[in-house]
Amino acid sequence: MSLRNVIRAVIGLILVLWLTACAQLPARNPIATWVPSPNHEPRRPILIVLHATEQQSVQRSLDTLRSENSGGPVSAHYLIGRDGKLYQLVADDQRAWHAGAGRWGTITDINSASIGIELDNDGGAPFPPAQIDSLLRLLTDLCDRLRIPRTQIVAHAEFAPTRKSDPGPQFPWQKLAAAGFGTWPAADAPPAPEAFDPWMALRLIGYPMQDRAATVRAFHRRYRGMETDTLDAEDSRILHALTQGFAPVVDEGSE
Ligand SMILES: [Zn+2]
Repeated sequence: MSLRNVIRAVIGLILVLWLTACAQLPARNPIATWVPSPNHEPRRPILIVLHATEQQSVQRSLDTLRSENSGGPVSAHYLIGRDGKLYQLVADDQRAWHAGAGRWGTITDINSASIGIELDNDGGAPFPPAQIDSLLRLLTDLCDRLRIPRTQIVAHAEFAPTRKSDPGPQFPWQKLAAAGFGTWPAADAPPAPEAFDPWMALRLIGYPMQDRAATVRAFHRRYRGMETDTLDAEDSRILHALTQGFAPVVDEGSE
């Protein structure tokens, strides 16, 4: 390496270190006395949200997720192309802006609690196997590394059913469940008992109840691949199976 290149490399390193130092949040609150404890770690998300970009190309979505759409600045932690190429736009321990308003169980600030994954998809096309394989690799990594429960994977539409429909009825939830992610009823699950209340079950799983027809559409999209908004006996069978031994998402943290 020539002297000039060495100088360039050193200047580059100094610049990177300087920018990194500037980017960090202040560790201390000046109104308190700093008595640091070594017993801490970055805050952890407890939910994974799946989206479809509803745009025409990865490049378009990479641009949008680093700028803004009609609603303002947006981002997601990850974007997966139709060919399976995986992009990361926001660090796992940072709060990305992908969820917007919504509620899932007791979680009212979904962005603070979740990792957002965008899938390059126009909203109606099937998801290619390479894209789903890449998603499964990412889910394995995230759930293992961040200790996110494998059941806690939701559609954007499920917690914002009046505003959103993504990732849409084409998304292969059953394939995800076969690989151990998300939830899916056993094929041989029996019919729900007479007294079973499907609305209670939807609420227990986490669905918001402000607009019940919109919630049923979101539920149908995920578990039945259709867009209708009236509950029937098959819904009760599915909901009964999903809520047997169900544990709502809670952040237990560590002590
Ligand atoms: Zn979305």
